[in-house]
Amino acid sequence: MIDTPAPLDALEDPSSAMSRARAAEVERVVAIGSGIASARETLEIAEREDGVFVALGIHPHQAADDEPLEELTGLIDRRTVAIGEVGLDFYRDYAPHDDQRRVFADQLLLASELEKTVIVHSRAADDETAAMLEDFGGTVVLHCFSSPPLLPVALERGYYVSFAGNVTYPKAADLREAAGRVPRERILAETDCPYLAPQPVRGKTNEPAFVIHTLAALAETRGEDADELSRRIDENAAKAFGLQ
Ligand SMILES: [Zn+2]
Repeated sequence: MIDTPAPLDALEDPSSAMSRARAAEVERVVAIGSGIASARETLEIAEREDGVFVALGIHPHQAADDEPLEELTGLIDRRTVAIGEVGLDFYRDYAPHDDQRRVFADQLLLASELEKTVIVHSRAADDETAAMLEDFGGTVVLHCFSSPPLLPVALERGYYVSFAGNVTYPKAADLREAAGRVPRERILAETDCPYLAPQPVRGKTNEPAFVIHTLAALAETRGEDADELSRRIDENAAKAFGLQ
């Protein structure tokens, strides 16, 4: 099973979290580095931990922080499988919208040039996210999917849709309904740790091992066997991120 994505550098002890993940048969993680400092830390984790791939990007929350994109580009190495998180967040609104748009557009361009997959974060910005992605020709992963109105666009354009722990929450019937409509070859699962721990461990610090609970909820809502869905998600992730 693979967790796509998880910001491992946000955890206190990423190495023991990875040991617990392996014990839970979560052997692989796409770790997110958001901004230069986090990117460096994430690359170091990937260097010493087996099964860790890296996505590097400037998160919409950091869009006004003057994180130099050239420096980030310089960090991209063979373990870097995606540009992300990139996108728009008009819900938390930590950065002016114009900055968010500019940084998102620049990184879409970068991903096109490097032929990398993008991991997209979108909150309270469905229409604009869809519009900005319209001309992007590469592979798109919508992470921590929480916007059912964005689903028709995602399905039409063949985006990968990744579900986080919030799909397990009792009140999230609309998310489970959305999860049931994602084709088998496009579904992914993630922890997006350290927040949003799935239902049986809700309230704890989230970590990659817990993605199995999200898998169980997805399997149940889709009426599929969990082991089979886990294998399917591995295959989907391998394709989405070009993993060997
Ligand atoms: Zn996100």
